[in-house]
Amino acid sequence: MAKHTIVMIPGDGIGPEVTTSARKVLEAAGLSVEWVELPAGATALDQGYENVLPARTLAAIQAHKVAIKGPVTTPVGKGFRSVNVQLRKALNLYAAVRPVRSMPGIKTRYEDVDMVVVRENTEGLYSGIENEVVPGVVTSLKVASEGACMRIARYAFRYATRRHRKKITVFHKANIMKLTDGLFLNCARKIQEEEYPNIEYDEIIIDAGCMKLVQDPTRLDVLLMENLYGDLISDLCAGLVGGLGVVPGSNIGDDCAVFEAVHGSAPDLAGKGLANPLAVIMSGVMMLNHIHEEALGQKIKTAYDAVLREGKTLTRDLGGTAGTVEFTDAIIAKL
Ligand code: NAD
Repeated sequence: MAKHTIVMIPGDGIGPEVTTSARKVLEAAGLSVEWVELPAGATALDQGYENVLPARTLAAIQAHKVAIKGPVTTPVGKGFRSVNVQLRKALNLYAAVRPVRSMPGIKTRYEDVDMVVVRENTEGLYSGIENEVVPGVVTSLKVASEGACMRIARYAFRYATRRHRKKITVFHKANIMKLTDGLFLNCARKIQEEEYPNIEYDEIIIDAGCMKLVQDPTRLDVLLMENLYGDLISDLCAGLVGGLGVVPGSNIGDDCAVFEAVHGSAPDLAGKGLANPLAVIMSGVMMLNHIHEEALGQKIKTAYDAVLREGKTLTRDLGGTAGTVEFTDAIIAKL
């Protein structure tokens, strides 16, 4: 097996705990890897860097093309621009892909959920263009460009085709945001009609879409949407299958890819050894598929599915009493 060089960003809060777990599982499964560990987030400032996203960390991802990242803490309403937004923009990681599926042994309201949220990652209200017009009146600009809308639509249809998915549903609010969400819809329609007629296509206004999701998520397949909607809907979808501890993610660009769970740094759990590392481990499996180590990915998936199915060693968010390390060791024992 070729040796891979992968950038490891532990992150803040529970980040170091859950990324350590992922690293242990990936190594135990037999991944031949050299880790390039670098900081981001509050941890980077603690280590003396001047920015939450040090140039060294960014350069390493550009050089090695692949990174796995723990969550980082972003101050609310003040301070540095979000590491995640900076990273996604700087590396042009335009597609966030978040598979949401029912997990064996985890009882939720629904069975057989199997969706993928594809979120545009570079524009919308995350452009960070905010202005004070006059004192007491502020605006935030929602940006949509044809290039970025076409790019994410094409990505989603190509993904659906390669993964043998049947249908793409665009969540939108084009009845109100006629220009921005209207452009997003027009681009998706065009790509489907001209390039991917093999995939069924559907649109739903996002408020009705939320109702549909909680009524019966098993009817949905691939969900495509702009940045903010994708952020919100990802967490909603996580709630349908057992919570943020079981939803992985990837941020994909044409040159680089950064794999990370949907969840944040969970300051309430940080340092307690209680966080569920599964979402980062699952993100690691997505990374293995990306670097063409599918067999290793399958091995890890089979191992964690077995641990979940047995139900003896689960973290608290999944109804068990195990800590992060115990749960990680249970997966490793099944490899
Ligand atoms: P959060 O995802 O950190 O936590 C929400 C809830 O889910 C909390 O109750 C937490 O304990 C629980 N939770 C999250 N991950 C878990 C896990 N692995 N195991 C068990 N329980 C888990 O969201 P938040 O509290 O809104 O945000 C905290 C910080 O994380 C904020 O600074 C936010 O900006 C940041 N954040 C970062 C990322 C990222 O880096 N990708 C994503 C989302 C939020």
